[in-house]
Amino acid sequence: MAVKFANRMNLLKGSEIRALLALTAKPEVISFAGGMPAPELFPTEGVKEAACKVMDNMGRVALQYTGTDGFASLREKIVARMAAKNDIHVSIDDILITSGSQQGLDFSARVFLNPGDVVLVESPSYLGAINAFKACEPTFVEVPTDDAGMIPEELDKILATTENVKMIYVIPDFQNPTGKTWTLERRQKFMELINKYEIPVIEDNPYGELRFEGEFLPSLKSMDTKDLVIFLGTMSKIFAPGLRIGWVCSTNAEVLGKYNFIKQGADLQSSTIDQLITNQFLEDNDLDAHVEKIKAVYVKRRDAMLKTMEETFPKEVKFTHPEGGLFTWCVLPEYMDAKVIAPQCLEKNVAYVPGGSFFPNGGKENHFRLNYSCMPEDKIVEGITKIAEVLKANLK
Ligand code: PMP
Repeated sequence: MAVKFANRMNLLKGSEIRALLALTAKPEVISFAGGMPAPELFPTEGVKEAACKVMDNMGRVALQYTGTDGFASLREKIVARMAAKNDIHVSIDDILITSGSQQGLDFSARVFLNPGDVVLVESPSYLGAINAFKACEPTFVEVPTDDAGMIPEELDKILATTENVKMIYVIPDFQNPTGKTWTLERRQKFMELINKYEIPVIEDNPYGELRFEGEFLPSLKSMDTKDLVIFLGTMSKIFAPGLRIGWVCSTNAEVLGKYNFIKQGADLQSSTIDQLITNQFLEDNDLDAHVEKIKAVYVKRRDAMLKTMEETFPKEVKFTHPEGGLFTWCVLPEYMDAKVIAPQCLEKNVAYVPGGSFFPNGGKENHFRLNYSCMPEDKIVEGITKIAEVLKANLK
């Protein structure tokens, strides 16, 4: 049978990372390839108690449909958390609960992008966002970045000369994949440009609370005077990704209304029981204390990784020094291809993610991403030392 698919399916292929993760699942592999929270830190007892309480006290509510915008008490807690952590002051009417922030990314594309419209992204950017946006067949324009974030002069040039720019997607805090954080000055300049050109911004912030050191920096949304910034939040990295609780925050009622329409068509609502369990957990537990516990573990893992990289990596290989989040990013000499080196590492039972697919327009294979949240320190030292050996063997 000759099955004819929609044109968009020509643009979508299984993520390289998912294929690689399948190979790294073997217990003997030291994997820096994923981007997951450390499972041993999940508050399983607290969630169990919350789940029991929900079923004992409001089982019928938990198993019933609920409104598309999400459970009101949970949105209240999210509003309070955004005020405390992101200096964003909104009301529950500005929040739509989504199934992880990944759903917010998918919806953003559906709300703003016609085929051929331009979406601006940092170069590199989050692969999951690139793949979600691709379903709407946009043209990607990569905005150059340096260690301080998106380069405003480059952004200005692109905005001044490019037609049909419909949205800009950014991750200013501990970016996936680079671990980089935008400076205050870059944030201010970015917002000046956004206000000048009036383009919607998708600010994706799953890692902002995972700051190990350095100064708190204001979110773009907290600087937004024209209701142009749409903030995506999530419980995935500070609590538990399995519950799939994320949210879209927009202070433009028309914009949030469009997201709500899309959500109605996609899944009517996010799981009621998962929202109620999250809400109950937040009522009975101190999430701040939990985040501190996670950070205390992750910072040691980051330190072990960076120290071993400093000691063992050849000087030709550069890497970022993240102040938080889950990733560091390595830049190889241009003649090296991280896709070619990955199987050599896998032979030694170590895995990373080649960086090429984080550039939507391709052509940049001399990068790779390392995740430090999921391996104990001794394994980090062992794995990084092995990668260093392979890198040295590939130097010209
Ligand atoms: N945005 C970024 C930058 C991410 O790294 C991730 C998860 N890896 C997500 C969004 C999606 O997270 P979730 O759907 O679990 O909230």
